[in-house]
Amino acid sequence: MLVYNSQAHRKQEFTTIEPGKVRMYVCGPTVYDQIHIGNARTFLSFDVIRRYLMYKGYEVTFAQNLTDVDDKIINRANEQGRTASEVAEEFSAAFIEQMHRFNVMDPDIRPRATREIEAMQEMILTLIDNGNAYAVPSGDVYFSVRSDSSYGILSGRDLDQLRAGERVEVNDEKRDPFDFALWKAAKPGEPSWPSPWGEGRPGWHTECCAMIHRHLGTPIDIHGGGADLIFPHHENETAQAMCAWHAPLANYWMHGGMLQINEEKMSKSLGNFYTLKEVLDRYSANAVRLLMLQTHYRAPLDFSFDRLDGAVSSLDRLLNCVKNLRWAADNAPQDGEFSDLDRSFAGAIDAARADFVAQMDDDFNTAGGVAAIFGLANAANKYLADAGENITTSVTLRAADTLCELADVLGINLADASAGSELPAELVALAAQHAGYEGTSPDEAAEALLAARQAARKERNWAVADAIRDAVTALGLVIEDTAAGARLRLAK
Ligand code: AMP
Ligand code: ZN
Repeated sequence: MLVYNSQAHRKQEFTTIEPGKVRMYVCGPTVYDQIHIGNARTFLSFDVIRRYLMYKGYEVTFAQNLTDVDDKIINRANEQGRTASEVAEEFSAAFIEQMHRFNVMDPDIRPRATREIEAMQEMILTLIDNGNAYAVPSGDVYFSVRSDSSYGILSGRDLDQLRAGERVEVNDEKRDPFDFALWKAAKPGEPSWPSPWGEGRPGWHTECCAMIHRHLGTPIDIHGGGADLIFPHHENETAQAMCAWHAPLANYWMHGGMLQINEEKMSKSLGNFYTLKEVLDRYSANAVRLLMLQTHYRAPLDFSFDRLDGAVSSLDRLLNCVKNLRWAADNAPQDGEFSDLDRSFAGAIDAARADFVAQMDDDFNTAGGVAAIFGLANAANKYLADAGENITTSVTLRAADTLCELADVLGINLADASAGSELPAELVALAAQHAGYEGTSPDEAAEALLAARQAARKERNWAVADAIRDAVTALGLVIEDTAAGARLRLAK
């Protein structure tokens, strides 16, 4: 399996520190507001990477932090006359709720910055002892980038070149403009904790590194985040680990491409964003996931609602295919001999799975994986059309199961979505009236009505047969005659 490692700038064969086990960490959100769909794309990419590693048989331990103390949270709290912890609590809960709606798996470990102060202070003390960090009179503690000869290793930046181009915070107390705060002295009204350097709070880059060391042990196998975190956040994380514990923080650094609108990065500061919540209020998680996974995780993704509507239609094709396969299998006459058509369809199912795995083995190419799933759906539709009444149940069900299995690796749930009835509940009353049906299922009601209509037609009781047809048509349904019998469908 090949994985693109940002630090190596190329794809590398994936090997784990412990055989069969993967320890991975993905930087979580700063909880001051609802996340937008750009953030959601990054969390989705790593959810799928995790799911695929599990599908391959790895035992994955996945950690993701919540940054629950930060300038943005403090500013939001001040604007709203609330405490920072109230704001952080509200948006931590909101984030977790939206991740559940988006079918992103919970991390195994979800450390919160405010509960890890001790681990961070311990790391800072080690860095000071090792000569890589210094406290200044104001009570801040800085990491000294010049003390780390490998600084720049991840992003490939050279400190001397950086100086010319980049904007950095001006601060007289820093020895070098690129030194970054490990600990910040508290200002009045800010959340703070006691420390050897006075009351203060951790800097942003401190938490991930200390949490990884404490909860997963360093180095880990995979460290992930959006590409915008490579510099300075991840550069600073890896510098701390190298200097504190003389080991890299992670063996593979993986970074996701940006979600864009009109070719511009989606971000809160530009105001060009949609929250995940508002999008999931209108679209299914399945459709949003399908849209995003049609692009490779490292490539930029241009978002538009037109493209999302396109994904809704594509998803419908998959759902209908699974439904049709299951329906055909349920209604198939007795299986005959395994025909050449069956054999070639069985081969197509195996080939689709092999193609899916080959695509995903190539640095989690979900675009190729999605194409393999659609290839299988096309083969299945053709099989149903060609086989007509002669379908074989086993191979038909295997195709439906394989579609569900592969989609599930992408966190797209075809099994439940295709099992739910699309037929209206009113059918139940109609079937009670015309067919003596006593249950509550619209699907069963449809079958009872069709059977009653068929019986009426056999008896040449046209009045009853027409009454049933008119009643279902009035509900926006059509009776479709297929090789395996009649069925009710929503009129398009
Ligand atoms: P933040 O809360 O800003 O630290 O962002 C949380 C995660 O979302 C990080 O991994 C970022 O890299 C990622 N992210 C932010 N904006 C985008 C975007 N437009 N597209 C993809 N990922 C993003
Ligand atoms: Zn981080």
